Amino acid sequence: MDVLKHISIPMLAFLAITRELSLFLLAVFTFGAIFPDFDVFFDEHRSYFHSLIFLTPLSLLSLWTHSMYLWLFTAGAAFHIFLDFFSGVIPFLYPIKKRGLGVKIMGLVVFESLPRLKIRYGLIIGYPERSKGSHTAFSNESVAMLIVALAALLLRLST
Ligand SMILES: [Zn+2]
Repeated sequence: MDVLKHISIPMLAFLAITRELSLFLLAVFTFGAIFPDFDVFFDEHRSYFHSLIFLTPLSLLSLWTHSMYLWLFTAGAAFHIFLDFFSGVIPFLYPIKKRGLGVKIMGLVVFESLPRLKIRYGLIIGYPERSKGSHTAFSNESVAMLIVALAALLLRLST
């Protein structure tokens, strides 16, 4: 999943569940939601920061310190990993075990005598990809999602 989706989807979720809008808290949550992809600076992408070995101590630390900022950052990182689970594999125990899991779900509309929905799903198993090389930074649909998220933010700010 590209960075614009990792910004816009958590931003929309944050706007939907918060009563009072704080741009600083939104920024902390959104930074947490993109942070796991900074593991692209290691040899393998979707590695250290996409692992429960990173997320679990962070979660415990946020509970222990009662820091709302750390809790929001951690929630953003967890949101990132949740989204990535639907767009590839997550190596939950990296670096102990590099093999990861993901889920693939696809709905097809089949037009025969009557249109019907055919759903295909399954687990995918794979390994983190090498960080070197080219990766998709964003796409048309992710730009559209960011525009929608920014419009929702502007609407919240204006009310
Ligand atoms: Zn990621």
